Amino acid sequence: MLNKSYKKTCKVCLYDESHPLGIIINEQGICSGCLIHKEKDIIDWEERFNSLEKNIKEYRSNSSTNYDCIVPVSGSGQSFYILHLLKEKLKLNPLLVSYNHYFNTKIGIRNLSNLRTVFDSDILIQNINIQSVKKIIKTTFRELNSIYWHVIAGQTAFPVQIAITNKIPLIIWGAHQGIEQVGMFSHFDEVEMTRRYRKEHDLMGYEADDLLSKFDILKEEDIWRYRYPDELDISNIGVKGIYLGNYFRWDPKIQHEFVIKNYNYKTLNHERTFYSYDHVDCFNYMNLHDILKFIKHGFSKVTDHACREIRHGRLKRKEAEKIVSYYQGVKPKYLNLFCNWLGINEVALNQLLINIYNDINYKKNIKNRVRNIDDIFKNDKNSEKKEKYKKDNFINSSEIVLNENDEYILFGKEYP
Ligand SMILES: [Zn+2]
Repeated sequence: MLNKSYKKTCKVCLYDESHPLGIIINEQGICSGCLIHKEKDIIDWEERFNSLEKNIKEYRSNSSTNYDCIVPVSGSGQSFYILHLLKEKLKLNPLLVSYNHYFNTKIGIRNLSNLRTVFDSDILIQNINIQSVKKIIKTTFRELNSIYWHVIAGQTAFPVQIAITNKIPLIIWGAHQGIEQVGMFSHFDEVEMTRRYRKEHDLMGYEADDLLSKFDILKEEDIWRYRYPDELDISNIGVKGIYLGNYFRWDPKIQHEFVIKNYNYKTLNHERTFYSYDHVDCFNYMNLHDILKFIKHGFSKVTDHACREIRHGRLKRKEAEKIVSYYQGVKPKYLNLFCNWLGINEVALNQLLINIYNDINYKKNIKNRVRNIDDIFKNDKNSEKKEKYKKDNFINSSEIVLNENDEYILFGKEYP
């Protein structure tokens, strides 16, 4: 990690106190995330399951013409396992909802189609006007150093909008990031989805209307679909979002391997992490978005993955440090695709990344200024050993390989 010298670091995992979600390190040197993780070994998960069944009882629809709940899904991540739990264990009839983030890979589209088929489910896909999406990305990239604001905002607003218009009050999510990564809450709190957490943590403090009032390139017609519904509408319908991680022992590696074997979920060989099971639907999450995370916060997604594997007892801390130092220095791919799609030039993109890097270092009083994009990436020489770790511990089920000449897959809208 960058700049960790003046921050306390957890002696179990690799997180330090500068984690953007907030982490507390106790007198024994153990972080809140590691402490809350230990709850997983003492919780009576059968009792938790019974508590979940009780909680959702009133939401089961008696009508054959409505759904029991809404489930936000994508062509990646945990959607398959969530649906497995809902359909097989809880016998619920969900309506799937998906926000089209436009950075689609073939494999993500393939997984999403497969998901709908194997779980025999209806789906609504939100396709926001592509010009508005591009304007929002240009704005949030320049002003918030983020190309992913629209994805998070869309993924979290759309399910709530559909809950209200279709009168389906229960929304079911997988795990809560605040619990899984930093131990912000206990599993016993049974924390639910809130407007406040979404704004403060997911959206970096910026709701759709905050973008509108601050950055004048955007107009109301660009942002209104990203608005979280009114409190009055939410309470009239009684919308509630719950997290399955509070009721089932959450372990993404085991769960992903289960769906690879049982539901033919396909994975991808990421360059910037050993964890090949997630974010396979997006060209940018593990590339440009991940590099921005690294520049802004001093660590990238591979640290999240390594911390998780340490906590589950499958990776030693010393080995994890080496693995992270290798992967976070790997140069991101598909920047040319992003530039072509957004209509910007790659030299300008590199300069923007250099400026963000230098600005952040300046604010932190760090003298390390760079002039060349390659200076941000310091690749570890010991790459073979780290790639071997991935090969030995993770299944590569992919038949589809991403290609520099691929384009983002569009659906629901013609290319303008
Ligand atoms: Zn820790």
